[in-house]
Amino acid sequence: MDTIPVMKPWLDDAEAKAAAEAVSSGWIAQGPRVAEFESAFAAHIGASQGVALSSCTTALQLALHLLGIGPGDEVVVPSFSFIATANCVVHVGGTPVFADVEPQDGNVSVRTVEPTLTGRTRAVVVVDQGGVPADVEPLRRLCESRGIHLVEDAACAAGSQYRGAPVGASGLLAAWSFHPRKLLTTGEGGMLTTSDEQVADRARRLREHGMNISAATRHQNRQPVIESYLEVGFNFRMTDIQAAVGLVQLAKLEEMVQRRRSLAAGYQAMLADVPGLRTVQDPAWGESNFQSFWVELDHDFPLTRNEMLTVLAADGVSARAGIMAAHRQPAYRGHGHGDLSTTERLTDNTLILPLFHAMTEAEQAVVVGVIHRAAGLRAA
Ligand SMILES: *Cc1c(COP(=O)(O)O)cnc(C)c1O
Repeated sequence: MDTIPVMKPWLDDAEAKAAAEAVSSGWIAQGPRVAEFESAFAAHIGASQGVALSSCTTALQLALHLLGIGPGDEVVVPSFSFIATANCVVHVGGTPVFADVEPQDGNVSVRTVEPTLTGRTRAVVVVDQGGVPADVEPLRRLCESRGIHLVEDAACAAGSQYRGAPVGASGLLAAWSFHPRKLLTTGEGGMLTTSDEQVADRARRLREHGMNISAATRHQNRQPVIESYLEVGFNFRMTDIQAAVGLVQLAKLEEMVQRRRSLAAGYQAMLADVPGLRTVQDPAWGESNFQSFWVELDHDFPLTRNEMLTVLAADGVSARAGIMAAHRQPAYRGHGHGDLSTTERLTDNTLILPLFHAMTEAEQAVVVGVIHRAAGLRAA
């Protein structure tokens, strides 16, 4: 039997055709399709501006750069996240300060962020981990009261809902990823969304070397245009080939979310009675797109997390260890931090189960069956 993958992007002929059309058009670098993709994506999540970029990592770096964060500044981030969340602070010369997360949803909260704030804190990066929306509003009030910026790392959360609106609609600077590990993919790619037009204009300039006029506009002009470079920028551009794929994917996003939520509900129901196992759930304030469907094993479960991963792999199920903890990586060795006990518990005891758009009920039953047997339950 084939291995059941942990994730598989939902791509078909429509994306292939869109990419081929971009190639045939002769314009493959950032151009009209990027502009179309960024306005369509921003409209979808309810922000007024979208700035397409090369990745979520560069989107986060650009967000902190736009906020003027640099050497001597502290930025609070969860350690319980993909390492790029912490790295982007280092990329602008700032110091990441690790906050712990809530056991229920794996996200930072006022309770976990407040003890990490100092006179040097300039920003907090809140992550919607695995697609579970963080409770952003109380954090925003905390940050506003202290003159601290709040940035949302929504890498995983396209299609998730927060208090009845799409995640990222709040007008904060939000960063998105289109890596194939997320729902909507362009191969590699990212986006920065905001409701501040001036911030978006500057972000568009900075992604293109600080040029006052975009290369696409310059090429369309009949008259020669001499560009100037207003500030030191970056090359963080997305290509039109990626944007063409992104436009097709965006039209499928709602269906992807529905399918994932239905498969997630299946896992939640079928694993509800497994002793010592807890499944990720929607929080009270929103709905997850279940980009990562994780389960936590405790002492009542007969196997450790790593033993469970080994058993799943032997039965052809490609699961993954849960979300990493950046503070444990060699890259952050010696980097001081406060209490991260929940982070350590979750990163040690969680695993991510297969969940992808084309997953069948039969495949899901295989995954559940392996877990039931490991837990000593009779096969259903
Ligand atoms: C995937 C991910 C990133 C990085 O996204 P890229 O587009 O690969 O740079 C950043 N933060 C979180 C929380 C992620 O899950």
